[in-house]
Amino acid sequence: MKYRKSKVVFKNYNHNQNLLLPPSLEELIERNHPVRIVSQVVDSINAEPLLDKYKGGGTSSYHPRMLLKVLIYSYMNNNYSSRKMEAALKENIHFMWLSGMSRPDHNTLNRFRSERLKDVLKEIFAQVVMLLVGSGHVSLKEVYTDGTKIEANANRYTFVWGNAIKTNKKKMAVQLEELWTYTQIVATEELKDSAPIEFTEIDSQKIKDTIAIIDKALEGKKIDKKIRQKVGYASRHWPANLDKYDSQEELLGKRNSMSKTDADATFMRMKEDHMKNGQLKPGYNVQISTHNQFIVNYSHHQNPTDTTTLPSHLEQFEKLYGQLPQKVTADAGYGSEENYTFLEQHSIEAFIKYNAFDKNQRKSNQKLTDNLHYNKEQDCYYCPMGQRMARIGTRKRITENGFNQQYARYQAINCKGCPLRSLCNNSKGNKILEINHNLERLKAKATQKLKSEEGLYHRRKRPADVEPVFGNIKNNKGYKRFLMRGLLKTEIETGLLAIVHNIAKVA
Ligand code: SF4
Repeated sequence: MKYRKSKVVFKNYNHNQNLLLPPSLEELIERNHPVRIVSQVVDSINAEPLLDKYKGGGTSSYHPRMLLKVLIYSYMNNNYSSRKMEAALKENIHFMWLSGMSRPDHNTLNRFRSERLKDVLKEIFAQVVMLLVGSGHVSLKEVYTDGTKIEANANRYTFVWGNAIKTNKKKMAVQLEELWTYTQIVATEELKDSAPIEFTEIDSQKIKDTIAIIDKALEGKKIDKKIRQKVGYASRHWPANLDKYDSQEELLGKRNSMSKTDADATFMRMKEDHMKNGQLKPGYNVQISTHNQFIVNYSHHQNPTDTTTLPSHLEQFEKLYGQLPQKVTADAGYGSEENYTFLEQHSIEAFIKYNAFDKNQRKSNQKLTDNLHYNKEQDCYYCPMGQRMARIGTRKRITENGFNQQYARYQAINCKGCPLRSLCNNSKGNKILEINHNLERLKAKATQKLKSEEGLYHRRKRPADVEPVFGNIKNNKGYKRFLMRGLLKTEIETGLLAIVHNIAKVA
């Protein structure tokens, strides 16, 4: 049987159809589209600090509110390239609507991101957070703090090591002294009126002057060809090398490493280690505080350990909001005497484990010398064999941040022939015990807090509050490497990501 084919009807299509009224972009944007929320949020913040960054005069500028909206919406769509933003402003109706059909080019967008937002983005971020506080999404009273390392936009193989600089400077001083000693031997007559030279501290001028004297004294002398070559090399290279080392040391500050292509970046071990060889990469230690998975504070640090970052991170929190959080929860990486003291002095409740917290909770893991009996009046301990361990002194230590620690030292009278020696004392002499009483007190306080009902709640909530935020930034948003260079500029990138993260969470 043969079926008759139905008539095919196409919808009217006329590419060149003239419209009676021009289409409105406003109508083309869905009512609940995230782009509207971005626009609404940026419109409701006080843009005064941003406007103050414009000097005035000259040609007209694109409005900073519009540029900020474009950047935020672009970051929301995982588009971090200014060239792609420029293209989107010509092709994408959401960008066209946001910019009101303005078309800033990639240079304008880039300059705005890296220059105009410097020093003001944190204030804008804080305003966004305060909007969330107002809407009841977050509270500034309880925060969960953690850190991650993000790779810098820098060459992984051009590094500077502080220790290598020290060694090279020392070598240079030793070699200069050797040349000087040699010259004194072979040209005693020529150097008889020269003043003695001290080589413990050298600078480029000293090298230049010393080499000039050596050169003059050795002129016309029959000496080893290699010595003459060395003097020539030293005069050509050493002063410039020493100046280079000095300026690198200035850039390093307290750090031991930096990248040559981004001097603010420090070499650190990253979680993303595809080669599985623990390779150190240039990067920044990014610290954030969250509440209900919203970012309420962020800061960049140049040292790889989290321990030293907490006080300055919280000081910034106070600067942004005029108050400190009442409760801070963080992992054991933050459980140091310095941090506990800072929190105690600022009346902040700390739900922070110390390194051996979990181990100390299991009785089977305890060492023989843990929990020895302490007599406070007499300031002495009693060892497992009942021997009195009297106080023999104090060891002082200053941390990287300049915090003073004191370790009280106690010593047993006689460990010879003790049956517990193999379990208790590895040293040759009598057992010495070092106790930081302040830290022990703070640890006991932390233990009590962590084991309380509220402590258990915060310990459970911490990994579900702050850690997914890093997961979102690194995996969902694909942000594993900064685009810009330098501490301030990379902080702008984190700030934009933090604002986007918060807005997207509401949207
Ligand atoms: S080794 Fe010394 S400190 Fe340790 S239990 Fe024996 S006597 Fe005491």
